[in-house]
Amino acid sequence: MIPYARQSIDDADLAAVVEVLRSEYLTQGPTVPRFERAVAQRCGARFAVAACNATAALHLACLALGVGPGDRVWTSPNSFVASANCALYCGAEIDFVDIDPRTYALSTQALRAKLERAERAGEIPKVVIAVDFAGQPCDAAGIAALRDRYGFRIIEDAAHAIGALYRGEPVGNGRYADVTVFSFHPVKIITTAEGGMALSNDAELAGRMALLRSHGVTRDAARMEERSHDPWEYEQVELGFNYRMTEVEAALGLAQLARIETFLERRRALAARYDRDLAGMPLVLPYQIPDARSAYHLYPIRVGPAARIDRRGLYGALRERGIVTNVHYIPIHTQPYYRALGFAPGAFPVAEAYYREALSLPLYYGLTDEQQSEVVAAVADALG
Ligand SMILES: *Cc1c(COP(=O)(O)O)cnc(C)c1O
Repeated sequence: MIPYARQSIDDADLAAVVEVLRSEYLTQGPTVPRFERAVAQRCGARFAVAACNATAALHLACLALGVGPGDRVWTSPNSFVASANCALYCGAEIDFVDIDPRTYALSTQALRAKLERAERAGEIPKVVIAVDFAGQPCDAAGIAALRDRYGFRIIEDAAHAIGALYRGEPVGNGRYADVTVFSFHPVKIITTAEGGMALSNDAELAGRMALLRSHGVTRDAARMEERSHDPWEYEQVELGFNYRMTEVEAALGLAQLARIETFLERRRALAARYDRDLAGMPLVLPYQIPDARSAYHLYPIRVGPAARIDRRGLYGALRERGIVTNVHYIPIHTQPYYRALGFAPGAFPVAEAYYREALSLPLYYGLTDEQQSEVVAAVADALG
């Protein structure tokens, strides 16, 4: 079987995990802060807050930005449901902005048009959550220009994109986004099993995320009301959560981070070979935005009307040869939960048209040249 994604765990990863398991701290020790500093440094951000997964980190980001009942949050319908659910956790209203037909990421043009309508209605969103789809950076500068004009805040859902470059700088450096969120789920670029991280250059936002990650409880005397300063003193000053990352996960994360360049190189080489070997077939291959380097979390192709079989047919033909592809994504607004909120199919036609033809081919560090040849041959045979 060739899956669409798979983690890579080597002996150094195993050793790092075992070392922490034998140490004093399994949680709330020194390893999580080390992992936070390492990711922040690599991405050029001032602060990083690790969490038990990216979904929790997105929730913390929304809360830190003050998202609550009565607020509006907009995101891309072509994403995992977590990109929208985080706003609903806060009691806010969610809405979507249709995608760009070439990059499949939130369309800046559609965002501009929607903001113009929203301004007339007095309904400007508090936060826009832009997704770095497939590992390719979103149009961060274009979205930030609209932010400056309309006054919303930006969360970059970079679950796919640790290691990606935008205009020569690492995604996560906070030049455009208020908060950037990474995921370390096993299918992503590096893994901690479950895990996520929120990066920001704003000390107050980072402080709020760290506080809410751990029950809203502080031991910082400056934040406490009671001035006795007894050594056991802690105070709950907000209603927070337990969204902490464990030391074990952070140790794996540090070991994986040490391998990230190798991971990215292999993913980029595999993507370049798909680009070459699939060229000329009746498919739409991923489009590269200029002045960016994708982290290639996914290699999404479109099986359009020019092909002899449709997307369902290609999925089935590959499956028969032991190649398991996947589809990214079923548009969020068409999910039953979102339909019950009032969204209807047809509302975001570019995302829906893309979904009908989309298929993500196997792409991961451990995919061998021979396995990739099998995938290419199977696609060629199926398209006949
Ligand atoms: C994977 C993913 C998430 C959620 O990440 P978890 O770490 O699994 O919670 C959020 N957004 C996008 C775009 C993702 O791909």
